[in-house]
Amino acid sequence: MTERVAGVVTAVFGPLVRVQVGEQPVVVPFRRKLRWQAETEDRRLVVGDHVVLDGKPPALVIAEVSTRRTKLTRRSPGEKRPRVIAANVDQAVVVMAAASPEPNPRLLDRLLVACHHAGIEPVICFNKVDQGTSAIDAWIGDYQDAGYEILMASARTARGVGCLTRRVTGRTTLFCGPSGVGKSALLNAIHPGYRLREGSISEATGKGRHTTTTAQLLALPGSGFVVDTPGLREFGLWDLETSQLQGCFPEVAKAAEGCSFSDCGHASEEGCAVRSAVEAGKLSVRRYTSFLKLRQELGESESG
Ligand code: GDP
Ligand code: ZN
Repeated sequence: MTERVAGVVTAVFGPLVRVQVGEQPVVVPFRRKLRWQAETEDRRLVVGDHVVLDGKPPALVIAEVSTRRTKLTRRSPGEKRPRVIAANVDQAVVVMAAASPEPNPRLLDRLLVACHHAGIEPVICFNKVDQGTSAIDAWIGDYQDAGYEILMASARTARGVGCLTRRVTGRTTLFCGPSGVGKSALLNAIHPGYRLREGSISEATGKGRHTTTTAQLLALPGSGFVVDTPGLREFGLWDLETSQLQGCFPEVAKAAEGCSFSDCGHASEEGCAVRSAVEAGKLSVRRYTSFLKLRQELGESESG
C-alpha cells in the first residue's frame, strides 16, 4: 500500500531533495512529472516548498508541490529571469548590530521595504546590545512609532534570546541583515544544535566575512524553520515599482490616507497629509527622507 505524507523542503541538492516530515528529515528524489499548481512559473523546487510524498518508505518520492504563499526571488547578473530562492517564508528577522558593524538606518529601511514587498512580516532585531546602544538611540523610536516590533538582543549575554525563540517557533523565518551582525550567533543561541560557524569581523574594515553561502531551512526543535541568508543579495528591490513603495513604508501609507489627491506624490502637492505629518513632528523626517530617496532611486532605474 502506498502512503501520502506531507513535508517541507529544507535543502535542494540537484536531483535529491531533503524534506522534513514531522520531526524527521528524509532525502528523496522527485517525480519527473511533478504536479505543480498551474500558476507556478519557476518550476524548480526550492527550500520552503510544501510537498506531498508518495510511495512506501524508504522508497518515497516527491509527487506534488503546493501553491507558494510567499516567494523570495533574486535576479543574478547575467540571468534573464528572476529565480525563486525560498517559498512560504512567513516572517523576517531583520538583524542589525547595535554598535558594530555600524548600524545603518538607510539599509534597515531598504530591508524593511524588501520584506513588505515580498509579503513577509518583518521584526527588527538589534543584536550585540552588550556593546551599548548609543549608535541607535537617536533613531530607534522612528521604527517604534511606525509600528514595528523591535527586539533588543545579545547572542553573547543571551539577552532577548527567549523572546526571539518564542517569535520564531512554529513559523518559517528568514534572518537577514548585513554580514557580521550576529545572525549565525543568534541562531546558535536559539538552538545550540545548529552549530553554525560564526565569522569574525575584521576590526580593521568593520566588514564581516561571508560565512554562509546557500539557502537552507533549519528545522527548529518542536516546529518551525529558520533560513539564514548570505548577506543582502538574497532579496532586493529590483522588481518594485515606484507606485508600490508607499505601501512598504507603513507610517507613510497610513498618513497618505489623508492626502487630498489619491495620486499624491507627498512632495510639494497641496493638501498632502504626509508632509503635514512630517511638519507636525508626527512622522519621522528621517524615514520620510528615506522614502523620497528610495523613490527617486527606483524612478531612475525604471527610466534607465
Ligand atoms: P553573521 O555574519 O551575521 O552571521 O554574524 P556572526 O554570527 O558570524 O557574528 C559575527 C561576529 O560577531 C562574531 O565574531 C560573533 O562572535 C560576534 N557576535 C555575535 N553576536 C554578538 C553579541 O551579541 N555581542 C558581541 N559582542 N559579539 C557578537
Ligand atoms: Zn501626500
